[in-house]
Amino acid sequence: MKRIVLKVGSAVLTEQNRLAKDRMNNLVEFIHRLRDRYEVILVSSGAVAAGYTELKVDKKILANRQALASIGQPLLMNNYKKRFDKFKIGTSQLLLTADDFDSRKRTKNAKNSINILLEHNIVPIINENDVTAIEELVFGDNDRLSAHVCQYFDADMLVILTDIDGFYDKNPKEFDDAKMFATIREIDIKWLEQKANPSSEFATGGIVTKLMAADFLIKRGKQMFLSSGFDLSYAESFLLYNKYIKGTLFRA
Ligand code: ADP
Repeated sequence: MKRIVLKVGSAVLTEQNRLAKDRMNNLVEFIHRLRDRYEVILVSSGAVAAGYTELKVDKKILANRQALASIGQPLLMNNYKKRFDKFKIGTSQLLLTADDFDSRKRTKNAKNSINILLEHNIVPIINENDVTAIEELVFGDNDRLSAHVCQYFDADMLVILTDIDGFYDKNPKEFDDAKMFATIREIDIKWLEQKANPSSEFATGGIVTKLMAADFLIKRGKQMFLSSGFDLSYAESFLLYNKYIKGTLFRA
């Protein structure tokens, strides 16, 4: 069976400072269907928003966001557990940092756990360990973490589900004439050097970390599919029916 990593960002999992419960329902149902064909590892953001429902502190302060993540992580997991329980699918939590993958020993330990969990049909749910690592909270970098997860836990493909339906030649939220790429075979270094700022027409928001993830993976012979987390039908037809409708496939 092929192994895939699904990464879902905060843009999809949260709305108005809360977890987006309907979108979580859709996501879990989607994973349930995917499991006929794939072993699925989930990388999920959303802990800070979940924490904020319990404690109202200023999210602009990094240490507050770390504290909120620690409050929200069990709430996030509880939300997943309730939904996966309906399908009698077990869940597990792994909190990792990008640095864990610098150590062969730690990578191997984590991979052993992942293999056992998947053998027993349990969905591993991974998030950054925000108390010691702050990349995700500062740069929104669960994208990079999920690329590492894909590479080092032997998955074939990373699927990034976000609030945009693909990768465009410029930010489609600002430019009506932006065009989506169906396939990208190589990441242009110029794209990676773009600072994510509002004055850059190409890259605002989190697209740069997604391109970094794609660059990392295609250089290692893996694939990445960037698709909508709001309308999962595109990812579903691509993954389950080999039918491309929309989205961007990165592969060498
Ligand atoms: P997530 O929380 O899922 O990681 P982000 O908000 O970090 O999502 O990243 C997705 C955002 O990247 C999109 O909403 C879009 O506004 C922005 N973006 C900027 N440039 C592009 C581009 N060239 N193609 C697609 N999206 C882009």
